[in-house]
Amino acid sequence: MDTLVSLSKRRGFVFQSSEIYGGTGSCWDYGPLGVELKNNIKRVWWRDFVQGRPDMVGIDASILMHPTVWKASGHLDHFTDPMVDCRECKLRFRADHVDELPWTHYCPATKGNKFTIPAREPCGHCGARRTLCPDCGKGELTAPRQFNLMFKTFMGPVEEDASVTYLRPETAQAMFVNFDNVLQSMRLKLPFGIAQAGRSFRNEITPGNFIFRTREFEQMEIEYFVNPHDTIEGRPADEYWHDRWIEDCLAWFRRYGLREENLRLREHGKDELSHYSKRTVDIDYRFPIGWSELMGIANRTDFDLKQHSKFSGKSLTYFDEERKEHVVPYVVEPAAGVDRALLAFLADAYVEEEVRGEKRVVLRLHPELAPIKVAVLPLLKKREEIVKTAHGIRADLAKYWRVVYDDTAAIGRLYRRQDEVGTPYCVTVDVQTVGDQAKGEVGDGKVTIRDRDSMEQIRVPLTALGSVFRELLSGGAWASVAGRFERKGEG
Ligand SMILES: [Zn+2]
Ligand SMILES: [Zn+2]
Repeated sequence: MDTLVSLSKRRGFVFQSSEIYGGTGSCWDYGPLGVELKNNIKRVWWRDFVQGRPDMVGIDASILMHPTVWKASGHLDHFTDPMVDCRECKLRFRADHVDELPWTHYCPATKGNKFTIPAREPCGHCGARRTLCPDCGKGELTAPRQFNLMFKTFMGPVEEDASVTYLRPETAQAMFVNFDNVLQSMRLKLPFGIAQAGRSFRNEITPGNFIFRTREFEQMEIEYFVNPHDTIEGRPADEYWHDRWIEDCLAWFRRYGLREENLRLREHGKDELSHYSKRTVDIDYRFPIGWSELMGIANRTDFDLKQHSKFSGKSLTYFDEERKEHVVPYVVEPAAGVDRALLAFLADAYVEEEVRGEKRVVLRLHPELAPIKVAVLPLLKKREEIVKTAHGIRADLAKYWRVVYDDTAAIGRLYRRQDEVGTPYCVTVDVQTVGDQAKGEVGDGKVTIRDRDSMEQIRVPLTALGSVFRELLSGGAWASVAGRFERKGEG
């Protein structure tokens, strides 16, 4: 994890928020390359799950919603963690996490010497177990109190109870409260889904592990509505679609590079199911911190639509033409975190290898996710023709993709820099490309394309660059493209 954090800072993926002021608790800023990677993740998700499907539509709702939304959803009453406070140092802990921390102990058996003892272990000198504050080792802890994780704020100029509202803790509720608007305006038939990608806020007490758990984060959520009276392949429609979505989401993460051995499904036990859920399955990823949730796919039944109907007094039903009846749809919710997905893609892509006796760091990011698609590098920056041609190539390709020009180091160094940020292809312009007027040599009008993963190089005519990159950057295999052109040695 430290390696990823340091690479992220050094190469402009992720910075600590407000770093020059000492940073803000668990908030992170995406830098120039991070924002490209993050946008690419959201773009392919939207394209694959919304644009590409006839049964999906999207919305973009406001973050501030009517406060009653959170009463109806259960967040006001149930979205809480049990907290304990230290009476001495005033630190606050999650009651169920206190025993997971190493604890400070002033040992009476050794004249009150101070020790830090590993979590859950007793003192090796006096045998005592932790009862006091694990941090200061002096204060007693209060009884657990419920602490709501929603960020509270005030709407309008007066800070009074009547104007209290909340930053949304999830994007899901906007899909439920807009259910009828979307249904009527788009004339949809069940089953159909509403998707949204956007920011959510949770005042987590113990955030951490880089961008894994943060107080402000981005979600990509789908609410997929099905008719609970339908059966598909002999099973209730909601159960059938739940399994379909689990498969589709898993396949999506694999498609963009997460390795099979780092992914697993985890079925929630009956005791950990949310109050609304009939069944929840997590897709876990083997993060640098261990196996943890990458996304969850829940069968939320008709809980949300019924709750909002009850609290708003509006009917949120669907008219089943065949059965001539109004039904409250069931909903399957695939909910993914953008930041977590980004961390998983980064972790899975990171490789250190040895090339010709030197260490090479490569981010083997899927070309569609890579922040920079192509780097154009002039082999000699003092030759005007070479530099001019390279700038021209950058400008042409940049109409379609994020493409950079770099001449600030020798070619080997430039390749390593691009490898480290996951740029799948480099284009070099050399003397052969433009020719040498002094010697009366004419250029061949070809440039070298280097593949990040194999380091193989091919010579491609300038006129073919556009079509070659269209093929490579939309999933075309290097081997099949490279086979059509003249090979050069590795670069
Ligand atoms: Zn304390
Ligand atoms: Zn002791």
